[in-house]
Amino acid sequence: MDCLFCKIARKEIPSDIVHEDEKFLVFKDINPKALFHVLIIPKKHIESIDHVELQDKELMGELILTAQKVAKEKNLQGYKLAINVGRKGGQIIDHLHLHVLADL
Ligand code: AMP
Ligand code: ZN
Repeated sequence: MDCLFCKIARKEIPSDIVHEDEKFLVFKDINPKALFHVLIIPKKHIESIDHVELQDKELMGELILTAQKVAKEKNLQGYKLAINVGRKGGQIIDHLHLHVLADL
């Protein structure tokens, strides 16, 4: 798949990895908008929230649990989660990703 985040998931393009498991990769945003800013991507290519299907419902729950796990691991006292959807929603990369932002 010719997609930047798929290439990052396959380690064809380097990233600053914070956490990884079978289904997700968590890496630092290259242009951070907060002191702590990581992106959580499913390794499965899903274009956006608009492309999530019923079969992905467990994966979407696990996406949130991964954010919770990273927040605990990094001892974040509070954080913001954001998903941009579509160009008009600010989505630049067409591979679903959850932004985790925190001011430390
Ligand atoms: P979005 O606007 O929601 O599509 O967010 C895309 C995010 O990906 C932006 O915050 C970018 O800074 C970030 N980004 C783009 N390329 C890379 C990269 N190679 N490694 C890490 N983050 C990236
Ligand atoms: Zn992709």
